[in-house]
This record gives sequence, C-alpha cells and structure tokens, in this order.
Amino acid sequence: AVTLSGLTAWIRGFAALIDAHKEELTQLDSAIGDADHGTNMDRGMTAVLAALDGDEYPSSAALFKKIGMTLVSSIGGASGPLYGTFFLRFGSAAGDNDAIDAEALAAALRAGLDGVVARGKAEAGDKTMYDALAPAADALDKELAAGAGLGHALQAAADAAEKGRDATTPMLARKGRASYLGERSVGHQDPGATSAALMMRAAASALG
Ligand code: ADP
Ligand code: MG
Ligand code: MG
Repeated sequence: AVTLSGLTAWIRGFAALIDAHKEELTQLDSAIGDADHGTNMDRGMTAVLAALDGDEYPSSAALFKKIGMTLVSSIGGASGPLYGTFFLRFGSAAGDNDAIDAEALAAALRAGLDGVVARGKAEAGDKTMYDALAPAADALDKELAAGAGLGHALQAAADAAEKGRDATTPMLARKGRASYLGERSVGHQDPGATSAALMMRAAASALG
C-alpha cells in the first residue's frame, strides 16, 4: 500500500524535478507559448513545499486538497487550474485514508485525469499534458490488471508518459496558447506534457 508519507515523498520529488527542469520547461514554452511554464510550475511547487512544511495532513483527501488549492492560487497560467484540478480530484478519489492500495492509486490517477479533461476539454492528440497523462493512466491500469506489482506498473506508467510527451512534438496544438500558432506549433514538444511526464517519473521513484 502507499502511505501518506509515500504520497508526500512523491510530491516532494515532483517539486525537485520541476526545480531541476524549470529552464527546460520555460524554453519549451518559449517556442509555442509565453515562456513561463517552468517559472509557473516552480512557483506553484515551491508554494506546495511550504504548505507541506507548514502543516500536518491527516488524510490523502486533506493533503491533495491543500496541494490542489495551492497550485490554483499560486500559478496563474493555464497549468494552475489544470494541475490544481488534477490533485483535487486525485485527493477526493483517494479519500479520507492514510494509505491507499495500488488499485485505489490507479483510480485516483484516472479521476485526476478526468478532472483535467473536465476543466480543459483536451482530447488525445491536442498536444497537451493529456497526451502524457492519459497513456500513463492506461499503462498503470493495464499492468495492474495483468498482475504486475505497483513498482513495475508505475515504471511502465512513467515510460508511457515520456513516450506520450515525445509524441506531442509532431502534433498540431488544438488547446491553450500553442493553438494560436496553428501549423507553427508543429515540431515542438509540449511543455505541459513534459511537466506531466516529470510528475509520473516522480511517482515511479517515490511510490514504486
Ligand atoms: P499558460 O499557457 O497560461 O502560460 P503554462 O505555460 O503554465 O500556462 O502551461 C501551458 C501548458 O498547459 C501547455 O503546454 C499544455 O500542456 C497545457 N494546457 C493548456 N491548455 C490546456 C487544456 N485546455 N487542456 C489540457 N492542457 C492544457
Ligand atoms: Mg505559458
Ligand atoms: Mg502564461
């Protein structure tokens, strides 16, 4: 099972990966957006770390509610409400528990993904974070259904997210700022898919 301290380690690991990749994320956003995705995510995750240090969270629902609200209020750009909704829905699905099993983790990831879709209406191939998150959720479900352990299943999910991230390069953007570029968005990797792949890699490292 995944404990609250494991889930907290995941979020801390995600914050560390964002910090390490913030220039790269901003560089990617400078090609097809407004050159702020790295600073947006870093500002948000720095605020999340302060919230983790400042309080005790009795349940996954309470922990992820705080994370989601913090991202919504500190990021400002499109990624704030999208990641915020992801974590709010993740927490509601994980529930008032201090540990969740592999199936509950997969269901929470699916709920978070559904939240991203409810908020941003992205579909497969629109060149967004959805294109990294959806293959990760599918891979996690598939591996668990086939009897894989959580560690193996999360590695497969992180691999699928990175493959999905790479596949955004030839896509034409249909959502967000990059869509304003039309054909000129082709040939660039999506920044949000890149940060989403980091989130799944952090999950594989911390929860596997
Ligand atoms: P902004 O575009 O407001 O500056 P960011 O640069 O922080 O916000 O985030 C941009 C990322 O948000 C994009 O690379 C894309 O992955 C994601 N994104 C934008 N719009 C949507 C949407 N409607 N659904 C899903 N993801 C989206
Ligand atoms: Mg931007
Ligand atoms: Mg912006």
